[in-house]
Amino acid sequence: MTTPQLPLQDQLRGFSRALFSTWIYHRRFNILFDAGEGVATALFNRVFGIRRIFLSHGHADHIAGLVNLINIRNLGAGDQTASLKIYFPKNNRLIDLLREYLSRTQNGLSFDLEWIGVDENEQVWLEDQKSRIFIRTFRTKHSNKQLSLGYNVIEIRRRLKDKYHGLGQKQLNEIIWAYGKDEIAEDIEKIIFSYGGDSRPIDPDSVRQSMFLCHECTYLSIEDDERNFQQHSHLEEVLEIAAQADVETLLLFHSSLRYSLEVLKEQICLGMQKIKAKFRVLVLYGDHIIDPLAEDFPKNSRKKTREKEFEQVIVEGDQ
Ligand SMILES: [Zn+2]
Repeated sequence: MTTPQLPLQDQLRGFSRALFSTWIYHRRFNILFDAGEGVATALFNRVFGIRRIFLSHGHADHIAGLVNLINIRNLGAGDQTASLKIYFPKNNRLIDLLREYLSRTQNGLSFDLEWIGVDENEQVWLEDQKSRIFIRTFRTKHSNKQLSLGYNVIEIRRRLKDKYHGLGQKQLNEIIWAYGKDEIAEDIEKIIFSYGGDSRPIDPDSVRQSMFLCHECTYLSIEDDERNFQQHSHLEEVLEIAAQADVETLLLFHSSLRYSLEVLKEQICLGMQKIKAKFRVLVLYGDHIIDPLAEDFPKNSRKKTREKEFEQVIVEGDQ
């Protein structure tokens, strides 16, 4: 299967199929976004590396993997003392019920587990990133009854103020000597990663100029939402949102089981042509990240990848 060459590729692992299970693990930040069934079974001992979990909402296909994950963190052969923080949309009845189940069945955990209810527009600093990186929550549109959230990973970057653009280094140095460094530079927020969970199209203002937007794409067309749930997004509107938000890369996930990979790739390519997309589009299909524009993958590469991963895990587990 095609493995796109992009800096984030080796930092992301995930699985997504609408209704069945969704989770995305970002290794650089040791963050798991959602925790659908099978997450611990797929990550094996890497579950011990997870420091934070951000849940988008409380539907079973996004939280069912937590029971196993916490059990393995408690009993498995890894660092059983590393703390784990789980952030979730506050006042979520379904997540509260799962917490109650876990607290009854898992008392006396070997590690610190903290549950933190969050609202929209809240910030969570990633202290281990020298305080330059944080997560800000944003509201998504999924269930009418419960708050659902998306998460932006934001980096604070330093840049030259607009009014000093075009000046030479000598002139800039003179200003710095006279007024200090802060006179010429300012901090800006750059969204480096966005995860939306299940949602109707996300407000483009929430993910403006994100370097990597993970947006659900349950349907290829609006007619496919036969039961008229109106809780999910279809391809055309997701591409439109990504264009409006001026993102660099769009990762589609949560596609319905009814679509084959071939059909998905074909429709994505057509959709991109139609809007003359300037951004890159990838799709998380099952547990593979695929570039729909890339050449077809060799038939046995999936098997090979699996074998490789398995070998790697055995080695890691032995250490
Ligand atoms: Zn859902």
